[in-house]
Amino acid sequence: MEGDQIADVTDALSVLPSHRYPFPGHDLLIANLTAVRARINQLLPTAQRVALASVRLESPVANPGKIVNAPINYQAHVDESHQDKDLQQGIGGRPTSFIGDWGLFLKANSALVGCGAEIQLRHPKRRNDHEVELALVIGRTARSVKREDALSYIAGYAIGLDMTVRGPEDRSFRKSPDTYAVLGPWLVTADELSDPGHLSLELSVNDDIRQRSNTRLLVYDVPKLIEYASAWYTLHPGDVILTGTPEGVGPVKPGDTLFARIEKIGEFRMRVADQYAA
Ligand code: MN
Repeated sequence: MEGDQIADVTDALSVLPSHRYPFPGHDLLIANLTAVRARINQLLPTAQRVALASVRLESPVANPGKIVNAPINYQAHVDESHQDKDLQQGIGGRPTSFIGDWGLFLKANSALVGCGAEIQLRHPKRRNDHEVELALVIGRTARSVKREDALSYIAGYAIGLDMTVRGPEDRSFRKSPDTYAVLGPWLVTADELSDPGHLSLELSVNDDIRQRSNTRLLVYDVPKLIEYASAWYTLHPGDVILTGTPEGVGPVKPGDTLFARIEKIGEFRMRVADQYAA
C-alpha cells in the first residue's frame, strides 16, 4: 500500500514452496514472509500501481491454522455483560469475570473473510452483534513462549471483527457462521508497529459510534495472550489471535454499514448484506 495505491507484487508469491498432500498446518505466505518480502522489495520499483478503490480486499491471511479468541478481555466489557443478560447466555450460568478463569476459544476458519466481502447474517430472529478487536498474526512456531519474548513471534496486525450470534449455544458455534470472522483491511507488519499496547480502536454503525477504547485497557495484553495461548497449544505461522472486544457491543441488521478503525493499522467500511443468508 502507498497512499490510495496498491503496488501489484503478486509475482512475489513465486518464491513460495510447492506442497503436495498432506499440506502443512500453517499459512504458506506468513511462514515464508521474509523471503516474500525480499522478493517484493525487488519487484516494487517496477510494479504496476492500481487504485485501492478498484480492488476487493480479501483476508490478509488466507489459510490460518486456527483463529484464537480472547473472551472478556476489557474490564468495561465484563461490566456491561453483567448489565445485559443477552451477553450472559451460553456460558452455563457462570458469571463472566476474568479471562484467566475462562481460557480462550476458537472460531471456525471457514468464517473468515476480508473487509471487501459483505457480512451475511444468519437467523433473522436472533440478535447478531459487532465486536471490534485488535487482531495479531503469529509469524513463527510458538510453544510455551514467555511474555518478554512474545512480541518477536508476531508477523503483523490487522483489524478483526468477531461477529456473534447471541443465544444459549456454545460460544464457538455462535461465532462461526460464514463471514463472522473479518480480518482487514491489510496486514501491518510488526516492523511497522512496535507497540501494540497503546492503540485506539473504534467501531461505528451507520456513522453512530458504538465502541471506542484503547488496547492499553486489555486485561491480558498482547504478550500475555501469546504466553497464555502457547502454554496450551502450539501456535503456527498464520495463526490469528483476536484479542477481545471493548465495551459497546450491540446488534446489527441487514443493510447496516460498519466502520472500523485501529490506530496505526487503518480503517475499513463494511456492509451487512441486505438479505439474511439462506
Ligand atoms: Mn470477541
